[in-house]
Amino acid sequence: MEVRVLTKQLTTDLVQIQRAGEKQRSENQRFRQWLRRRNFAEQRLKAIAQEVEEAVDCTACGNCCRVATTQISERDAERLARYLGMRLAEFLRDYTVESAEEGRILKRNENGCVFLEGNTCSVYDARPNTCELFPHMVKGNGSLVSRMWHMPDRAVYCPIVFNTLAEWKRETGFEK
Ligand code: SF4
Ligand code: SF4
Repeated sequence: MEVRVLTKQLTTDLVQIQRAGEKQRSENQRFRQWLRRRNFAEQRLKAIAQEVEEAVDCTACGNCCRVATTQISERDAERLARYLGMRLAEFLRDYTVESAEEGRILKRNENGCVFLEGNTCSVYDARPNTCELFPHMVKGNGSLVSRMWHMPDRAVYCPIVFNTLAEWKRETGFEK
């Protein structure tokens, strides 16, 4: 994959990102629709996202685990139950809830995900698939454009998404 030098210093301040991400929400929605109507090199955009991912230290952030809910599949639940040495039914009772909109999700407390300790995931080696793929810019299910749906929301709290969208706009010549 071609390596590209990022065009500017990355923004990692979460307060600044929240403010700017909210301000850019409608622009980011327009960008998503704009991308859908164009042919662009998906590999090129993924390479840029990869570069941003490598430049951002997730262990110093952990904001997605504080802010976003986490959907889990049956396979995720079985793996986590095994990892924690619990029966599946016990695991589901103690660590998950059914949500009307999202299906089964991990329980949350005042700090975010029930498995978050400081900025670190206490079940990292058995974390759900969606956590492994997050923020779904480099890796994920379906095409990059189909995964763009959630990006305006994620740009408000995730430094990787916020900075990648800025780089993608420059790369594609998107007119704001
Ligand atoms: S399981 Fe781990 S990585 Fe996933 S949201 Fe919870 S703390 Fe974060
Ligand atoms: S994926 Fe984004 S929000 Fe989550 S820890 Fe990494 S930079 Fe922070």
